[in-house]
Amino acid sequence: MNMRIGILSLQGDFAEHSHATLSAAYRLNTPCTIVHVRTKEQLEGLDGLIMPGGESTTMSKLLLRKGMFSEISKIPKILGTCAGAIMMAKKVEGAIPGQHFLSLMDIGVKRNAYGSQASSFQMRLKTSLGDVDATFIRAPLINFLGENVKPLAYAGENPVAAYEQVGNSHYLACAFHPELSTTLFHEFFLKLGSNEIAQQ
Ligand code: GLN
Repeated sequence: MNMRIGILSLQGDFAEHSHATLSAAYRLNTPCTIVHVRTKEQLEGLDGLIMPGGESTTMSKLLLRKGMFSEISKIPKILGTCAGAIMMAKKVEGAIPGQHFLSLMDIGVKRNAYGSQASSFQMRLKTSLGDVDATFIRAPLINFLGENVKPLAYAGENPVAAYEQVGNSHYLACAFHPELSTTLFHEFFLKLGSNEIAQQ
C-alpha cells in the first residue's frame, strides 16, 4: 500500500522531515508519498501527519487561521517533534495567552525548559529504537507521562520521546529533533498501525 504522509509545512524544519521520511520509507521498502500540507484540504485522506519543530505559538496561530485543528485530530497517526510535540500535549506549561493546542496525547510539557536558543545542545541518547545523536533546540521538557504512554528515551531522568496508542490512533512525541540525525523515529512512525508493530 502506498502510504500518504503529510508534513505540516507552514513553519519550522519541514524540509528535514521530508528527507528523513523518504529515507525511512526507502529503508523499510515501503512506498510513501509526501504531502506538504499548507491547506486544510491537503489533510484529507492522510495516513499520517508529521508536525515539525519550529515555534508552537506561531503554529497555533497559523492552524487557527487555516481552520485545521479538527481535521488534524482525525488523522490516525501523528509524529510531533519539539514544537510539534507541544501542540500534541494535553498539558502545557508556559503557553502564551490564547495559544491553542491539539491536546491529543496524554503528556505534559514545559515550553523552553532547557533554556534559550543559545542553550541548545546535542547529546548521544540510548533509545528503545537504538542509539541516536539527539539535538535539542529550545526544547520542551516532558514532565508528565499518562499511564498508557510509553517512554522511548530518557535524557537523565527526563523522558524525551514517548508513544501512545489511543483507540486506533497513534501518537509519537519527541522533545528533540530526530529528523536531523537519524531515520529510526521516522521508521517507527511509518510502521505504526501496521501488523508488524501490532504483533510486537
Ligand atoms: N521553543 C519552541 C516552542 O515553544 C520549540 C522549539 C523547537 O521546536 N525547536 O514552540
